[in-house]
Amino acid sequence: MTKIVLDAGHGGTDSGAVGNGLREKDLTLNIVKKIGDMLKDYEGVEIIYTRTDDRFIELSERAAIANRAGADFFLSVHINAGGGTGFESYIYNGNVSSATIAYQNVIHAEIVKAINVTDRGKKRANYAVLRETKMPAILIENLFIDNANDAAKLKSEQFLQQIAYGHVQGIVKAFGLKKKVNSTPSQPQQKVSDGKLYRVQVGAFSDRKNAERLAEELKKKGYPAIIV
Ligand SMILES: [Zn+2]
Repeated sequence: MTKIVLDAGHGGTDSGAVGNGLREKDLTLNIVKKIGDMLKDYEGVEIIYTRTDDRFIELSERAAIANRAGADFFLSVHINAGGGTGFESYIYNGNVSSATIAYQNVIHAEIVKAINVTDRGKKRANYAVLRETKMPAILIENLFIDNANDAAKLKSEQFLQQIAYGHVQGIVKAFGLKKKVNSTPSQPQQKVSDGKLYRVQVGAFSDRKNAERLAEELKKKGYPAIIV
């Protein structure tokens, strides 16, 4: 079981950065919930949230939540401010494990791929949640709330979904997570009702090799494929 702590920055009396009608604490919670929802599609993942609503939590308590849970990974989500544009990622600027560096590399790269914004680089800083967590920890600053262009993107649910997707793809690659096998009661190829059997064609090829390749792929995914 991979235990992942999702930390939505700020909350409650601490709004975080504000600008362009947006509050950092709302955006971080929104993104973190999207990340958690997407990770539900993967096997062997336990999600632990530092908060799931609008409340204040001390930085040390956020780290303590992860330490008490014996988490494998800590992801802190923030929105930047102070003049600039784009995103950047942070790990602790003291001693870190090689895993921490590897996770930053892969997660940073996946976010770059998912959102087409300025890459401000992989950075290191002495942030409490990075310093006090005993497991690999990363903090992401997603765009600038006080930049009109960045804020316009942050107002789009679809863009927030893309941000979350980038984080998730990074975590999936970092930890080698596998998608859950579709658990719907009936398999897509066959549906039985009233004693009738319906088959669904998933491909038509002039070259038998291509048909065999698809059948092999389907079988690997657990579907009983046949070639006619
Ligand atoms: Zn912040």
